[in-house]
Amino acid sequence: MTVLLPFSEKLAAYDLGPSHPLRPERFTLAVDLMRAYGLLAEGPRAEDSTDPGTDSSRATVVDIEPVSREDLELVHDAAYIDTVLEASRDPWTFKTRRGIGPGDTPATHGIHEAAALVCASTTTALRGVVEGDAQRAFSVAGGLHHAHRDHAAGFCVYNDPAVAIAILTRDHPGLRVAYVDIDAHHGDGVQEAFWDRPDVLTLSVHESGRYLFPGTGRLLEVGEGDGYGFAINVPLPPMADDVCYRLVLHEVIMPALQAFAPDVVVAQCGADAHHSDPLTHLGLTIAGHNDLVRGIVEAADVACGGRIVCTGGGGYSTFSVVPRVWTLVLATLLGVDLPEGLPEEWRERCEALSGEGAPETLTGDRWAPLPSVLDEARGEVAAVIDRVLQASPLLAGTAT
Ligand SMILES: [Zn+2]
Repeated sequence: MTVLLPFSEKLAAYDLGPSHPLRPERFTLAVDLMRAYGLLAEGPRAEDSTDPGTDSSRATVVDIEPVSREDLELVHDAAYIDTVLEASRDPWTFKTRRGIGPGDTPATHGIHEAAALVCASTTTALRGVVEGDAQRAFSVAGGLHHAHRDHAAGFCVYNDPAVAIAILTRDHPGLRVAYVDIDAHHGDGVQEAFWDRPDVLTLSVHESGRYLFPGTGRLLEVGEGDGYGFAINVPLPPMADDVCYRLVLHEVIMPALQAFAPDVVVAQCGADAHHSDPLTHLGLTIAGHNDLVRGIVEAADVACGGRIVCTGGGGYSTFSVVPRVWTLVLATLLGVDLPEGLPEEWRERCEALSGEGAPETLTGDRWAPLPSVLDEARGEVAAVIDRVLQASPLLAGTAT
């Protein structure tokens, strides 16, 4: 099993400010934890002579191939890219527009280059899998799914999953891509980019827009024109837990991947559906997230020979949750089991950066919701799934 991890320390330049919740430590600490667990092959190691390229239990860390302006214009309009360039060069005098300004997505020096590098990371991952260099890949800094054609939104400047899928479907005509998004927020920008295309399925499982940004992702949003039937949305109530997600996996995600028969799956693995996330209200545990990702990987094994690219995404329990969740994503891609005890050197680094305690175990979770609250959420989710199955032409077998 060859698994690629495109990575560069420069990805940490996607930094919207010290008080912004989207901290680069979310993925830099995740990569530190992957390294501490011995999951990364980054060149021959001093202590042994094993060629890292032949070690199937470790991911191959690869350089990120840049994307061009022409590539970005497959998803974003030229005037918007010009606006981002202006904000990037001189954020101090930039006048708020196109979603960039005080608030969610502030003007930040160098943001164009940093956001383009995130697109390049996800594109390198997807190209590696589509062109046969690897079976699986992980773009851990990627998953910025809220960026739109002509404006920034929800911490996202350029839409890396959409750009990567647009590039690879341009370079490989006929390529069919299934995008599965398990971030707590609706994957609105990716859905918009492929709304009228039958070759890209977008499937988003998220907290209902009644309670959470961006407000879209209703189950009747199913695509239009040639893309009719190739968008699926599963809006969940607050407190939806592991049991709810298991239902969605088996009754929606797996059948949808089987029906669509993609050549490759792109899975946005945001960590903000976790019960402790400060921005959302869902009830997934770390073990539950891991089971969900494993299920999607297994579904890709059945649907498209195991070709899958995972990305990061949201997740705002920066120190206590996100690095563990994304390390588990990589372990799942590699097919390895990790010991529960977190490496001590990583815990010390996490404590030093967070200024608070670090978690002690890989999947340990403290959560004690009222059983009646979970029962109510599970009942609502079963009803939502019934409505999704009725609303989706793909799942009903009537998509054109
Ligand atoms: Zn999110």
